[in-house]
Amino acid sequence: MVSYEIRCIECGQVHETDRPAYACSSCGDLLEAVIDEDEAAQLLEENEYDSRPLSVWRYREAIPVEEETRVVSLMEGGTPLIRCRRLEEELGVKNLWIKFEGTNPTGSFKDRGMTVGVTKALELGMKVVTCASTGNTSASLAAYAALADLDCVVLIPEGKIALGKLAQAMMHGADVLAIKGNFDQAMDLVMRASDDLGMYVLNSVNPFRIEGQKTAAYEICDQLGGTTPEVLYIPVGNGGNSSAYWKGFKEYDTMDMVSGCPSIRGVQADGAAPIAAMFEENSTELTPVETPDTVATAIRIGNPANWTKTVRALRESGGAAFSVPDEEILEAQKFMARLEGIFPEPAGAAALAGLMRDLEEDLVDRSSLIVCVSTGHGLKDPDTAISQSVRPRAIDPTMEALSRVLGGPKE
Ligand SMILES: *Cc1c(COP(=O)(O)O)cnc(C)c1O
Ligand SMILES: [Zn+2]
Repeated sequence: MVSYEIRCIECGQVHETDRPAYACSSCGDLLEAVIDEDEAAQLLEENEYDSRPLSVWRYREAIPVEEETRVVSLMEGGTPLIRCRRLEEELGVKNLWIKFEGTNPTGSFKDRGMTVGVTKALELGMKVVTCASTGNTSASLAAYAALADLDCVVLIPEGKIALGKLAQAMMHGADVLAIKGNFDQAMDLVMRASDDLGMYVLNSVNPFRIEGQKTAAYEICDQLGGTTPEVLYIPVGNGGNSSAYWKGFKEYDTMDMVSGCPSIRGVQADGAAPIAAMFEENSTELTPVETPDTVATAIRIGNPANWTKTVRALRESGGAAFSVPDEEILEAQKFMARLEGIFPEPAGAAALAGLMRDLEEDLVDRSSLIVCVSTGHGLKDPDTAISQSVRPRAIDPTMEALSRVLGGPKE
């Protein structure tokens, strides 16, 4: 296994790796796993990682999990990176790709984090795993906990979770608790319960989730034949995934697998945009949004748990966070579905909405290599899709009726 430390991103304090830790015991800031990239690169090459199929565990030697630990996997990762010719034409750009994370086993990128996080839960000897969730985290955790034979308790905001996601958590046998409050309150409760009730927390403050999610960045570079995108658009909720991508790109660059890193443009929804506000006001402190609201429920977050990490990541990359209105997210969702055959949930269309906004404001070079991360599958949230669409028209089962609604023979 690669050498690594669990280190505070602010004061650098090193923490024990043989028990759970989610925040720095000295200053309270976030923790990250710092791996030895040179060693990881050497181990990857020695084991001919590039002959393995694309997946999270293709990069096993760069993931800090003991060699003896049983890996809990549903074959996550290895998602398509799709060249979008019709969107290129529509938007007037030259080199646009969508990384469609909706094809992961439970339909979102969360599976990349959970395969590593739940594997770590076994390594640490934990019996119960938990998370607060706007939906996809609980759907994913419930599946991996089932496979690992661990008890799973998930806290969701009552009445605010997309139908498909709720169905998944329930079907996989999680203990689903609906909090009479919003996501941010559920998150507070989970963090307090972790110590008191001995549950392993698998929200994105868990540094091992990030270790799984960073592999999406490695994967994009490999899919592009060893080059790195110039600009990457990604939705930002709690800010775990955007910081994971930045960590992945930086590590892959340090490992000499590619040269350079993209600038990362984090996209929030107008009604839940505390990180975008920090960039707009050039501030160093987050002001939480009390009652976040957006149709993109996966990023309906008012008090992002990973804000320090992701603000650093976006700044360091030369990017920023900004926000778009719900109408533009829904428009981007339709564009993806109708021009490219890709069906994302609303949050999974936020990245494209961000690119469209940047193009309008001339903030991105039209000839650059652009990747938009589409984070989750459209079937997660059928209600929003149906409410956007024209209902099926009822007709009599006759040729005459069919011909009438279709306006006669097609040429
Ligand atoms: C979790 C999630 C996000 C937000 O990711 P963060 O790590 O919280 O920033 C975006 N889109 C989808 C579909 C998600 O499930
Ligand atoms: Zn610290």
